[in-house]
Amino acid sequence: MTFRVLTGQFMHETNTFAAVKTDIAAFGRMIRHRGADEIEAHLAGTNTEMAGYIDAAAEHGWEPVHTVAAVANPLGPVTDEAFEHFSGLILDGLVENGPVDGIALALHGAMVTESHEDAETELLRRVRAVAGPDTPVCCTLDLHANVGPAFAGMVQIVCSYLTYPHIDMRARARRAGDLLQRAMAGEIRPRLAYARRPMLQGADGGRTDVEPMIGLGKKADAFMAADPRVLDISINAGFGQSDIPDVGPSAIVTGDGDDPSFQAIAEELMDDIWTARDVVNNVYLGVGEAAAIARDFNYKDKPLVIADYADNPGAGAYGDATNLLAAMLDADLDNACFGALYDPAAAADLAGAGVGARMTAPLGGKTDPRFGGPPLPLTGDVVSVTDGVMTFDGPMMAGVTKSFGPTAVFRVKGVEILVVSNLMQIIDLRQFLAHGIDPRARKTVALKSMQHFRAAYEPLAERVVVCDSGGLATPDLTRFAYAKVRRPLHPLDPDAAFAAP
Ligand SMILES: [Zn+2]
Repeated sequence: MTFRVLTGQFMHETNTFAAVKTDIAAFGRMIRHRGADEIEAHLAGTNTEMAGYIDAAAEHGWEPVHTVAAVANPLGPVTDEAFEHFSGLILDGLVENGPVDGIALALHGAMVTESHEDAETELLRRVRAVAGPDTPVCCTLDLHANVGPAFAGMVQIVCSYLTYPHIDMRARARRAGDLLQRAMAGEIRPRLAYARRPMLQGADGGRTDVEPMIGLGKKADAFMAADPRVLDISINAGFGQSDIPDVGPSAIVTGDGDDPSFQAIAEELMDDIWTARDVVNNVYLGVGEAAAIARDFNYKDKPLVIADYADNPGAGAYGDATNLLAAMLDADLDNACFGALYDPAAAADLAGAGVGARMTAPLGGKTDPRFGGPPLPLTGDVVSVTDGVMTFDGPMMAGVTKSFGPTAVFRVKGVEILVVSNLMQIIDLRQFLAHGIDPRARKTVALKSMQHFRAAYEPLAERVVVCDSGGLATPDLTRFAYAKVRRPLHPLDPDAAFAAP
């Protein structure tokens, strides 16, 4: 039997403290494809959710209805116009092609719009209004999803990423699609068991290279091995820079049928996350400390990598923080690189001056200098100008082509600065290589990323250090005034505030 399956991808991780909204154009700067032809041409075979659903469609002989693939870089709330536009494409597809046998969605789980604090739940409400309560819906989520109980009640199958750095987007969508196939065929009757605790975020941000996530993952595997009715388990670490009631980590068990043991599994996983609530593996250095380590670094043939954790554009930071760069220049580092610094005006000026030009430019710090430092008036040489386009080849997004927009490399003393026009965190070597910087040959590689950089950069590094430059994704939560989250909430409230969580 041929099943007709509607697919749609609409993803954003919203930092509600970011002052810059996410509009339709922001999706155009990352992933924005419409209809089967565009989606298959751009995404088939890549490490993306849509590729996983395309694989599932081919394997199971679906008649797929691919509506839209839209992903924007994390930043402030999604505009109502953008939400209505992209959710409208999914809903129009449903109306025009319905009834369908199943629905396969790729969502982030932490989208907030101007009007909806839990945008994924709003989208599912609208999907259910058209498709009815019984059409099976599978959904992939980012491991940093903030999932509330209302959402969990409207979806039958959830497969969140199991990795951070995220390297299993295609595999998780394929898994969700395979379960959807079994549900449509009547082999299973999936439904979700859901649990959470009063926490802003959990499991040390979800890092899957350290505890507690390593142990949690093993435990989840054991639960699935012990009972084939446990179809899948998702452990969401949550995304803390979101001032909404449903912020925080959650565990979701996709079970076959209704059995209290599924709920018990979700609760046990969340008990573990609660117990490990104070675990932090990173040591967050000040920028001066990080620059001093670089100055004294005994370089042989592999670089020191400094992660500018707090200015990670992958968590909604502005990507133009200058504090770490200033410290590196003060320390007189040589053979160093720094990137990507988001500054479209400077990138245009540098590109306009051309390769070989020596000039003085105010660099970075323009969005909100309270988070990461003011613009730096720097004199240096333009050593590279490109259109910013690169095709990734690393573990996270191999095969995906993206663009920094007009891009220049500006050398100031011993530091090559990658100045870009499109906000993006560093996850792939091609982001430096395509613009003339070989990070494998630098003594110090400073990059804006929290954790994703580890997939491509940890293997080539002699040492990795992490610093808090004061950017908007700072781990120092005292800098934010939470007003809408549910209380009490760890770590905003003391342990004494929690009776028996
Ligand atoms: Zn994530």
